[in-house]
Amino acid sequence: MRDPLLQIRPDVEPVLPTESKAALDKIYKDVPAVTCACDKLGQCCELTKEEAADDWATMYPLYSVEYLNIVDYVQEHLSEADQERLLSFDEERPLRCPFLTGEGGCSIHPVRPLACRTYGILSQEEVTETKERLEGEIPSLWLRHFAKNESCTVCPDTEIDEPEKVEAHAERMASFSYDRELLEMSQTFDGLADEKRDLLIKATGKYRVARWSWGGFNTLWRKPVTWLKSNLVGYMDRATLAE
Ligand code: SF4
Ligand code: SF4
Repeated sequence: MRDPLLQIRPDVEPVLPTESKAALDKIYKDVPAVTCACDKLGQCCELTKEEAADDWATMYPLYSVEYLNIVDYVQEHLSEADQERLLSFDEERPLRCPFLTGEGGCSIHPVRPLACRTYGILSQEEVTETKERLEGEIPSLWLRHFAKNESCTVCPDTEIDEPEKVEAHAERMASFSYDRELLEMSQTFDGLADEKRDLLIKATGKYRVARWSWGGFNTLWRKPVTWLKSNLVGYMDRATLAE
């Protein structure tokens, strides 16, 4: 059944400006390509209840500029049924990523976000070596966060297709430069309608949300204003990932 809250616009122009799309693709090009060779593809795209209780979230963090890039891809490339399902998806912290296919693939692979692209690239040895090499050049707090985060995304079953990019990528991860660039882009343009921004400010005191989840962004960007007027305050009170 069609979701009455859904606002499908099949012939809509891309929402992400061309220059933002080009800048985003340039950032993504710095991430080494990998081939996945595990016996259960997509296992890293869904959480166990224990992982969720430990505060992990799927497809997170997602920057607003990445969200808009994915919306454009979904509207251009996926079936109407998939558009309906994905663009009305409003769960902030699903156990299973909504883009994970039944075969363990990613239905938005060309535009998957940075968090997904960087998963499983660095080995534990590379994380440790990068941390030691950059001591004194990068704030220790950043290096500790880098080592902690990346140690949780090591995968023994990825094969690196572009090894020549790994060292520079590791430095970008350790210095959080990818995140800063995506944050800056997301703070420059987010495409949110004025009326919705007013409701966001009223509900949270925030002018924008730059990092969130797919379901969170969908709720703010795609629910009708009438729905937001009645429900946004409650949704934001329950939200835990909006930044
Ligand atoms: S990152 Fe690792 S666990 Fe995830 S699909 Fe690739 S090989 Fe499998
Ligand atoms: S967007 Fe794709 S790669 Fe990322 S968690 Fe979802 S299915 Fe996995």
